[in-house]
Amino acid sequence: MTDLEQRVKDYADAYYRGEEIISDAEYDALVKQLRKEHPESDFFKGEILGDDLKGISKKYKLPITMNSLAKCNTEEEMLDWWNKHPHTNILAELKIDGNSQCLCYKNGQFVQSLSRGNGVYGEDSTANVSRVQGVIKSLPVKHDFTGEIRGEVNMTRSIFDKYFKDSGKKNPRNMAAGIMGRLDGSDCDKLQFIAYDVFDANNTVDTTEIRKLKFLEENGFTIPEFKINPSFEEILEWKNSLTNKSEIPCDGIVIKQNVTDKADLMKLVPVNNVAFKPNLEKACTKVKQIAWSMRGTRLSPVIWIEPVELEGTTVVKASVSNINKMKRLGIYEGAEVIVSKHGMIIPQIDLVVNPKPDAFEVPRVCPVCGEPLTITDTGTFPECTNPNCARKIAHKYLRMFGILGILGTGRAFVAELEEQGIGYPAFFEMLDKGPSDVLNEYAGGINGEKIFVQMNNARKQPITPAKFLALFDYDGLAEKQFQKLGNLELKDMLKLSEEDLKGMKGIGAETAAAMIDFFNKDMEEILIVSKYFDIKVMEVSAEDSDKPTVCFTGACPGYSRKELAELARGKYTVMDGVNKDLNILVCADPNSGSGKLKKAESLGIKLMSYDDFLATLNL
Ligand SMILES: [Zn+2]
Repeated sequence: MTDLEQRVKDYADAYYRGEEIISDAEYDALVKQLRKEHPESDFFKGEILGDDLKGISKKYKLPITMNSLAKCNTEEEMLDWWNKHPHTNILAELKIDGNSQCLCYKNGQFVQSLSRGNGVYGEDSTANVSRVQGVIKSLPVKHDFTGEIRGEVNMTRSIFDKYFKDSGKKNPRNMAAGIMGRLDGSDCDKLQFIAYDVFDANNTVDTTEIRKLKFLEENGFTIPEFKINPSFEEILEWKNSLTNKSEIPCDGIVIKQNVTDKADLMKLVPVNNVAFKPNLEKACTKVKQIAWSMRGTRLSPVIWIEPVELEGTTVVKASVSNINKMKRLGIYEGAEVIVSKHGMIIPQIDLVVNPKPDAFEVPRVCPVCGEPLTITDTGTFPECTNPNCARKIAHKYLRMFGILGILGTGRAFVAELEEQGIGYPAFFEMLDKGPSDVLNEYAGGINGEKIFVQMNNARKQPITPAKFLALFDYDGLAEKQFQKLGNLELKDMLKLSEEDLKGMKGIGAETAAAMIDFFNKDMEEILIVSKYFDIKVMEVSAEDSDKPTVCFTGACPGYSRKELAELARGKYTVMDGVNKDLNILVCADPNSGSGKLKKAESLGIKLMSYDDFLATLNL
């Protein structure tokens, strides 16, 4: 690969990650130069980007982020929104369910179309979109318009029935998505574009929603059905009339403030606009089997049902969150049940037609080690508490590799250790023997070798007693808890009594009892393993322990979880779950009133929107 190729590739990757290293103009100039110097470069075939980027040579930053709206699924949620937000100068609009596109115009001429992508970066879709019905290439009325026109590419029910009924696709929506993904543009002429939004570079058209729709209509675009200042009852009636069999695929009613607030629209989840979703499609089916799957040391129920069509997909299993919920539902094998797709993704059991209490069996023994299971304190899950259970072993290894930053520790490797029943002391003994003979034999080839080298490097680095104790993965005891023991040597930590512990700042009775239990049970193992590490008391900088803890929930448009964690580093400590050590829970909509958020609030955790959170980072 030439230097230039490498540079272009790096910039393209950075674009994809959402980092602006160079301007679009500079990037375009480099690509142009590369095309001139190496027209045969793999770059133009899209092959030298990572696997997941195949075929994409560039992600385009969308002129205005395409956000998702807050959603109300039930009448109560709708009414709640209605009472809390302005609704005297509004527009209610049919929400078209299609493929979102941003059409860019320069002096009245269509120049490019970008797909929604991740909401911040889209992909060029000009070739296919140009063929779609209703995409106006040259605006007849406002010749000087420069800006973007937003809309949805979709397929009508009658076109679907006429041409694609036997295509294997279950509905017009899936069919349209399939056609938009084709590289040859075939059948794009059977799709239509419905426009609903305008962003005007000169700020003349886009001041109110009514003006925007009028502008679109004058220029020949098809616009969605809308009502000006409807009453709550009118919207409710309209929403209830929507079905998944309508001519134009739709998934609800959007309520927009008539006077456009661009600042609000730029937020990840705009505050004053909302989508009222249609009633969920429900289906009746039968429970075939109640199975249990093991996650970590806990077993959770999986309900296998007779296949049923729901929202265009075939559903074969549904979830019920835990044993208590199963009891409340009165579920059992062979029961007739009503299922629906909450959030359109995970099918859920809503109702058992003939409920029977306690007519299902909870497993009594661990499927991995065969020891009796205990039910968690809250009565929600059966759990294996056998410290020698292979599952526990796997969890412990994954925890240790995570803490020490050992890479390449795939689950397969850990599964191997689990299967061989290799616990901690045995594993560390192997490390002292040499890479190829023992570790490879047990833990497989190159992977074993990699782990061996990394583990031996890691254990030469000094480690604090708190971090060392966290390696043992005792439930509920992480490094943060052990740090509260202060700057003690490991041997002094192990001597602490329950009374000593309770007297320490930040350690409650529960944590004290857990530590004592941990020390009692694992003392021998702790002492053996400690010989393999360079354990050193190191002053914990006040700054480090004072960092607020943060946890993310729900999707953040434009950033993956990994990217968020990366951004937060330095200013926050990122946590995986909600517990009493958490300071801030970041979510799409802090006012959604969901159960998880309410629980967090009751623990005194601060709720924050993704917008506000990103603002604290001063990016
Ligand atoms: Zn077990």
